[in-house]
Amino acid sequence: MSDTRVNLFGLDREGLAAFFAERGESAFRAKQVMRWIYGRGVTDFAAMTDLSKDLRSRLPDMAEVRPPVAIDDRLSGDGTRKWLLAPDEDPSAANAVEAVYIPETDRATLCVSSQIGCALDCSFCATGKQGLNRNLGVAEIVGQVWLAEHRLRGEGRLYGNRALTNIVFMGMGEPLANYRNLVPALRILLDDYGFGLSKRRVTVSTSGLVPFMDRLREEVDVALAVSLHAPDDTLRDELVPINRKYPLAELMAACDRYTGGKDRRAHVVYEYVLLAGVNDDERHARALAGLLRNRPAKLNLIPFNPFPGSGYERPDEGRIRRFQDRLYERGIRTTVRRTRGDDIDAACGQLVGRVRDRQKRHFREVPIKVEPSTVGA
Ligand code: SAH
Ligand code: SF4
Repeated sequence: MSDTRVNLFGLDREGLAAFFAERGESAFRAKQVMRWIYGRGVTDFAAMTDLSKDLRSRLPDMAEVRPPVAIDDRLSGDGTRKWLLAPDEDPSAANAVEAVYIPETDRATLCVSSQIGCALDCSFCATGKQGLNRNLGVAEIVGQVWLAEHRLRGEGRLYGNRALTNIVFMGMGEPLANYRNLVPALRILLDDYGFGLSKRRVTVSTSGLVPFMDRLREEVDVALAVSLHAPDDTLRDELVPINRKYPLAELMAACDRYTGGKDRRAHVVYEYVLLAGVNDDERHARALAGLLRNRPAKLNLIPFNPFPGSGYERPDEGRIRRFQDRLYERGIRTTVRRTRGDDIDAACGQLVGRVRDRQKRHFREVPIKVEPSTVGA
């Protein structure tokens, strides 16, 4: 029967209000139910005591609150934790995605997946090597956060009154290629009746799908990270093939629109994976500084995380430090992302999950259309 019931993780507040209205209930039920689900971690309608008895008894026939099933839970020596999760519509677990928990002294970040695999085929990325199976639904994205938040709360791993302080869309997949499901999921993360996260603590990372960067800026207020990885088109075409469709000049113009205009955002975080002998010498540092100078930018250098057969290597510490210094002395705010969880293959770009029945599609064969999101702006 579960296939005919709506998984409420898939509805943002507006969607939930419509769900109740269509069933002759007050739209106010949306707030009540969200408070139970997200505030208190309750999934059983019978325990939602401020709903009428009648509604409580009817709800299980129409709806459910079903988190993904954790089929593996691994802890790294540095405290990083990786869950392998069976998506909502795939209880056989033939496909599975990964979510990674990264605790620090003053914050705890969950890195979530947006797709099963990825079609964009960046040359240095383990997820990209797998191709795309499909987009995750809203419930499958939100379910990752709910599962982590409430498990960790149950274990007493708290930062103030919450377990997760930051969410980054840096797991498997390209979030802007799943725009339609990303937007309602972001709304639930930001909603006071949802996870109540502040807009600066929710980051969408993209390899540069320009039309969707513009839509995102108009529709939801979140932080944006852009995977740059090369300071010129020749090299970026090779590393990040979507660059052939949206080259650097277009990408940087979209970043400028993101930080400009009437509701200007403070900055864009630029990510740059350091690949030994490929994009990590003085010349690249100089060109990169030129690209970011006079832009509201933070640069995050990510030393390459190896995986079998990648064909790339991580530069040594001295080279990483020199690259950072070259940027720093040219006035670019630059940090190096410390590798976390690499003993359990949980570091950036190492997430593979399980991707079955993939269509090894190249982005040029995937029509990237600007579709309306399921919920209006
Ligand atoms: N698809 C999105 C988000 C997921 S990847 C994007 O590309 O931005 C999150 C970050 O990890 C991206 O900056 C990505 O380029 C980087 N990454 C991918 N493979 C990596 C690897 N092997 N080592 C280090 N970083 C990697
Ligand atoms: Fe996809 Fe991002 Fe990996 Fe590129 S780096 S293949 S966009 S997940």
